[in-house]
Formats: sequence, structure tokens, C-alpha cells
Amino acid sequence: MSAADAVLERARAGGVRGFVVPGTKLEDAPQAIAVANGRDDVWCAVGFHPHEAKDCDDAAFAKIERLASDPKVVAIGECGLDYHYMHSPRETQIAVFERHIALAKKLGKPIIVHNRESTDDCVEILLRSGARGILHSYTESLEVAEKLVAAGFFISFSGIVTFRSAEMLRGVAKALPHDRVLIETDTPYLAPVPFRGRDNEPAYVIKIAELLATLWGVPVEEVATRTTANFEEVFSVRLPAK
Ligand SMILES: [Zn+2]
Repeated sequence: MSAADAVLERARAGGVRGFVVPGTKLEDAPQAIAVANGRDDVWCAVGFHPHEAKDCDDAAFAKIERLASDPKVVAIGECGLDYHYMHSPRETQIAVFERHIALAKKLGKPIIVHNRESTDDCVEILLRSGARGILHSYTESLEVAEKLVAAGFFISFSGIVTFRSAEMLRGVAKALPHDRVLIETDTPYLAPVPFRGRDNEPAYVIKIAELLATLWGVPVEEVATRTTANFEEVFSVRLPAK
């Protein structure tokens, strides 16, 4: 069994029913598609992470655009803004983000949005974009989340929501409408409690589901059913029967 299959099998054994592998740059887009191909519960996304925006010239974007029409590509991303590291200049990040949004709208696919210390610009761009999609590994306030949810976006929680210091974020997760919430790994980063410090993997999203169950006061099965339905809705896919 390949390393990818071993990871997927551990997650399936725990009850994870669907996966999206996001790309971050041109080089890993074909790999993301390759992981999705031949697996009926795996899809992928392609795009330039804001760290890589400086490499997104016309030729590179044209290649992403071609790959994006593959039937296994169910979203455009990661894309977005990151002013924490500023690996690419702000103006470049914004221009590349808007290009991804335009592509997603043209293809009728959602965007997977990365945002770090760039919330004002990010929200402004998203609210006037008319795009739909996911704010991934969400860490912002309830007020921002509510604005985005009102505009049709989904909010995805990574292992951060389980961290001891994330009390504010747990308040966000508790307050949001359940039909707008997703859970994710952001692997290999951000493994949830009690796996902090290890490489993250899809099996661990169950820990995030368990946390949501506590916050929402419902059985974990209900969180699983809800987030699975949200996955099918946002990515316009049908998961294989259990
Ligand atoms: Zn990200």
C-alpha cells in the first residue's frame, strides 16, 4: 500500500468519508490531481498560495487554468493573502488572488481562501467578488465570520480550534450556523490536541469533530453528518455510499 493510501485508510477507518487535497503552487498541482485520480472519495484543488504569488506569471497561471478544468479539481486554491510572512509583495498577492477568484467564477467552482494578518483586504475583496468558497483554517473573529457566512462562504476549522489558547475561536465555532462549518487538517501543520507537535493527518480531523460536538451539545455523529453534507454542498460532489 502506498503512503498516501495508508494515510487515507487510517482516516476512513475513523469515519472520514471525503477528502480534498489543495495545491499551493504550479509544481504540486499535477500531484494533487494524481492523488485524487482513481480514488472515488478524493478530490483536489489547484492554485497559487499567497506565499508563491510572486511566481504566478501569465504562463504559470495559464497552466493552472488548464489543470483547473480537470473533473477531479473541485475548487481553486489555496489562494488568498498572507501579510504575516509577506513572501510576495502585497500588490502581487492581491492581483494573483483576484485572478484566482475570476477563474473560480468562470468555472463555477469555489475558492479555498488562505488569510493571515490580511483580514481587511481579504474580506473587502471577497465581499465584492461574488465568489463562493471556504475560509480555510479560520482564526478571525465572529463578526468577520458572520459577514462572510452572510455572503455565502463556509468557515473551516483546523486543529487550531482545539488549542488551549483558542478560547475566542471556540466561541466562533459555537456560534456559527452548523450548515456553514467544515473541518480540515491543514496537514502537515496544526495537528489538533492531543497530537500537537506531530505531523498532522486526515484521521485527526475526528478530534475537531469531537470538539465541535462538545461546543454544539450534540453527538459527534451529528457533527460528522453535518460537515459531510457541507462538504458535498460546497464542492458540488456526491460521496460514495458508506
Ligand atoms: Zn493556508
